[in-house]
Amino acid sequence: MTTPSPYGGMRPFSGVLPLDEALQRIAAVATAVEGQVSVALPDAAGRVLAADVPAPFDVPGFDRSAMDGYAVRTADLVSASEDAPVWLTLAGRARPGAAFGAEVAPGSCVDTATGAPIPAGADAMVMVERTVREGARVRFTRPAGVGDHVSPRANDVREGVVVLRAGDVLTPARIGVAASFGLRALRVRRRPVVALISSGDELLDAAEAEGPPRAGHIYDANRAMLAAICEASGAEVRPLPLVRDTLDAWRAAFDAAEGADLLVCSGGSSVGEQDYGGDILAERGEILFHGIAVKPGKPTAFARVGSQLVLAMPGNPTSCLSNAYVILRPLVRQLAGLPPLPTITREATLTRPLKSPVDRLQFYPVRLDGDHAVPVFKGSGDVTSLSDADGYVEVPIGVAQVDAGTRVVVRLY
Ligand code: AMP
Ligand code: MG
Repeated sequence: MTTPSPYGGMRPFSGVLPLDEALQRIAAVATAVEGQVSVALPDAAGRVLAADVPAPFDVPGFDRSAMDGYAVRTADLVSASEDAPVWLTLAGRARPGAAFGAEVAPGSCVDTATGAPIPAGADAMVMVERTVREGARVRFTRPAGVGDHVSPRANDVREGVVVLRAGDVLTPARIGVAASFGLRALRVRRRPVVALISSGDELLDAAEAEGPPRAGHIYDANRAMLAAICEASGAEVRPLPLVRDTLDAWRAAFDAAEGADLLVCSGGSSVGEQDYGGDILAERGEILFHGIAVKPGKPTAFARVGSQLVLAMPGNPTSCLSNAYVILRPLVRQLAGLPPLPTITREATLTRPLKSPVDRLQFYPVRLDGDHAVPVFKGSGDVTSLSDADGYVEVPIGVAQVDAGTRVVVRLY
């Protein structure tokens, strides 16, 4: 059942903002969420470190061989040359994890592998390639310098030095650093919780139906799509049940979203009779904007409901996804404490002309085919319009057409 809007019929947008300004208004209120949790190292990839990690001990914790060869006393080799080689007695071996237990006596050397502790008494390593071994003797033909091919204790990190910083994103290398200190868990920022609402009387939930939809209905595409974007942007997603086109259904949905840091809605964000997105935002919170000068995705609203942020987007999957890349992804990353994603671009030649409304910034999806950018947009209601696209071309405000053959910048998704 559809109830009439309290405002009656169509209600025009109060003001349509340029995208830059909309993004600024979002950035001004989207701060990283408070709170931290401990995660096991295998689950830490991509998380944001919550506190500095000082090295709990020196690495390496002992003087370590950086070469396969012989640990020597440099004093023994001072006179060594091609013409007058010095022969040292092989006293034993040192391997990683298996130290040579004794002190190296003058006149002797120890067969020492890369990673093994340098035996006491020795002060340099000589590469195996520079030596000749005969039974229990080893021949040296040049002097060695003190410390040659030795990684001294704490060469990499000294105890107490901060090796990972609060705010660092946990890359494989940083997880490797934590592992090398024997850490099993790290304190990271908690993930922002994002509640997802899809609205519309026509929507079906795959959990409740299967096969072709009954007449006039469609499956909800947006919650799954937005969940994918939000999760990849560092959020924990909470999908809520489908919302029907009544103000009461929206009220119940907003109640159910309580506690989420961000509520993302799709559908009902425009000015039609059945569109209650704007009404519920006005009733519950403070609308920071409603309407952006972009195509697709103009009927987009952003609001604050208590401490919760709400982004309401149009239901067309293409509009919704386009906005999700341009607006939602940076927003979620900010809430997660993640740095902005770098924009990756390719230059290509447009294969067909693009038309664009002069009063809006257009995001036109294209597929890259070698050096060509092939427009793939079919229609804003067509779910496959974006699945073939590699990225999009921005057509600025004031430009009505981009001709075929133009070199364009494609921004990859
Ligand atoms: P609305 O934004 O509610 O005006 O919806 C615009 C168009 O998108 C309509 O054709 C809807 O049927 C369609 N639509 C809305 N929500 C969804 C959704 N979650 N999944 C797929 N299509 C949707
Ligand atoms: Mg609708």
